[in-house]
Order: sequence, then structure tokens, then C-alpha cells
Amino acid sequence: MRIILLGAPGAGKGTIAKMLTDYDGSVQISTGDILRGAVKGATELGEKARGYMERGELVPDSLIMEIMESRLQEPDCRKGFILDGFPRTIPQADALKNLLQKLHLKLDRVINLDVPRDVILDRLTTRRTCSNPNCQEIYNVKSKPPTPDGKCKKCGSPVIQRADETEEAITKRLETYNEKTAPLIQYYRKEGSLKNISSTSSDEIFNNIKATLKAG
Ligand SMILES: [Zn+2]
Repeated sequence: MRIILLGAPGAGKGTIAKMLTDYDGSVQISTGDILRGAVKGATELGEKARGYMERGELVPDSLIMEIMESRLQEPDCRKGFILDGFPRTIPQADALKNLLQKLHLKLDRVINLDVPRDVILDRLTTRRTCSNPNCQEIYNVKSKPPTPDGKCKKCGSPVIQRADETEEAITKRLETYNEKTAPLIQYYRKEGSLKNISSTSSDEIFNNIKATLKAG
């Protein structure tokens, strides 16, 4: 399958992408991963990207698109790909459209995971992370608590709430998402490729996506 996964932070894109890649061998591609991959691979494009990242600047769209172009032509993409967190803006969506045309790749669907704001807030504010950088086990105060004194069950280090997972930080991330990325929903709806899925159950979402792709 070739799909784009849209959805706010905390909508569960990562979980769903994992289920889909296990299902048919498609690869999950996120901007962060391909940038890190390009920098690690020490390619010419990676070197350019590293320069921006080291200066703390945003990697320009033109460079992201060049890296995306080479990534989409790697052999592991033959079975399909799931774009997770990309595109993020309308200009990126336009650039992606041109790129896919150039590569003669047709997108099957754009899936929007439509999860209510209170569910996302609850999911992310209850998350806790092991403070040991070599462990980073994820906990949840409701469904997977650490030890009663707040330690990691794997390595015994203190379990903390990440700064970007406080209610204040998440509210801000959701605002940024609504402002920059939510217009993409309208963009793909107009193109007729959007499938909106309102569910909070990953199994239900997974089955819904499979049925959507089968229906064509
Ligand atoms: Zn730990």
C-alpha cells in the first residue's frame, strides 16, 4: 500500500503504521527518520541536512524533497510505504504530488486519524518515560504504571513526565498542528483521496484501513 497517515500528535499514527507494515511489508517513512538516515549514511544530501541541523535551523523543503526522492526509490519501498508525519504543510503536499508523478507512483489513500482532543490530552498527559537514556521505557500512569515509588520496572531509574508531554506543551503542539497541518485534510478531501477514520481503537482503525484499500 502507498498511503499518507494524517493525525494530531497522540492520534496513534506510529501504532497504526507499525500494524500496517507488519501486515503487508510496506515501510514506514517519517521525515525525522529519513533525515537521521541521510545524515548517518553520510551521503551528499545527508551532509547538507547535517549542516542545517547542527546550526539549529529548519531543513528546507527543497532538501527534504530531494532526500524523500532518493528514499522512495530504495528497494524496500517496492512493497509500498506509509508516510507518517509527512507532508506537514500545503507546500510540502504540493511538492510531494509532483514528486510522486515524476516517480510514476500512485498514492492509494490519505488516511486521517480523527481522535477527539480530550482523548489525545488524556493519552499524552498520562505518559511517563524512564529517565535512563539507554532504557527510555514508556509507562502510563493509568494502564502501565511504574513502581509505586515512581521507578522504572526494567532498570530502576526514576520515571519522569517529558517536558513536551505536560498539558501545557501538548495544548501548544495541538494548536500548531491545527494551524499548519489540519488544512491538509481539506486539501486531500478536495482531491478525493481522503478517508477520515474516527475511532480510538487501533484494531478498529486497522480493519477500517484494510477495508478501505480493498474497496479501492
Ligand atoms: Zn528504565
